[in-house]
Amino acid sequence: MSGGTPILVVGSVAFDDVRTPFGAGADLLGGSATHFSVAASYFTPVRLVAVVGEDFAEAHAAPLRERGVDLAGLQRRAGRTFRWAGEYDFDLNNPRTLDTQLNVFAEFSPELPAGWEDTPVVFLANIDPDLQASVRGMVREPRLVAADTMNFWIAGKPDALRRTLGAVDVLLINDGEIRQLTGRWNLVEAAEEIHALGPRTVVVKRGEHGVLVFAPGDVFAVPAYPLRRVLDPTGAGDAFAGGFLGQLAARLRQDQEPDWRRAAVVGSVMASFQVESFSLERVRQLRPGEIEERYAGFRKLTEFGDFQR
Ligand code: AMP
Repeated sequence: MSGGTPILVVGSVAFDDVRTPFGAGADLLGGSATHFSVAASYFTPVRLVAVVGEDFAEAHAAPLRERGVDLAGLQRRAGRTFRWAGEYDFDLNNPRTLDTQLNVFAEFSPELPAGWEDTPVVFLANIDPDLQASVRGMVREPRLVAADTMNFWIAGKPDALRRTLGAVDVLLINDGEIRQLTGRWNLVEAAEEIHALGPRTVVVKRGEHGVLVFAPGDVFAVPAYPLRRVLDPTGAGDAFAGGFLGQLAARLRQDQEPDWRRAAVVGSVMASFQVESFSLERVRQLRPGEIEERYAGFRKLTEFGDFQR
């Protein structure tokens, strides 16, 4: 999408090996920034900051290019692209990481192309929290900053992660990870702890159980869409973030207050498409009208009348 409020995303661009109870794939294009960008591209222009290695051919970027994602901030460096291998059993909410190879991300020094330092919306997708902080610091007075993270960084760099969160408005995180980060089982208390670190809005992703949004003065829940076909949940969290921030960015353009509820439903719509295929097969080629149709499906799913005896 060319018009609208741009979003700058920093995160991983990866090759994934994934096994689920319904199939497997190797060397699939993945990564937090990739999944986010493709989903968000349906709503607003996206600027991607990341690094890939020499094994990343021109053709690998096709799904991003086709969706109009601006790749001027995608560096190519000597070495191998980030690699992740994971496996899911029937509990699709919790992947088991088999292997994480940072490769070119280990030495990554992000740079913003000219003009990108004024991007109004920033998404710090799941990646090293020091990298997230460095990119956050390069953007001048963004209107909205959101971040995601995962157990790998919560366990590996907890202090850096807490520092990064000090300059973040919205944290998107899954239920297991917010419990790990705060040491609290109760999600309401855990969200309050996160508020105290910085983010005023906390979105807790609960896989097939949907999401809980703790926004200023509002708590909202969206279920996951009951789908006949679920193949691979990889990227669902990032696709959620793409729809969520894409919707918020569109409203910023009209100078309206954020509508967290609508954004959470749009995020859930994009996550529901993400899980219907491996990698980006489904999300990269949505037909016109499909997003609207599923949004209406979510509304129907959760509408009910007044209480009657
Ligand atoms: P999710 O939306 O949480 O399912 O994100 C899935 C994507 O995260 C995969 O495509 C992986 O390449 C990527 N990923 C996995 N582990 C990491 C990590 N430690 N840092 C950054 N990205 C990761």
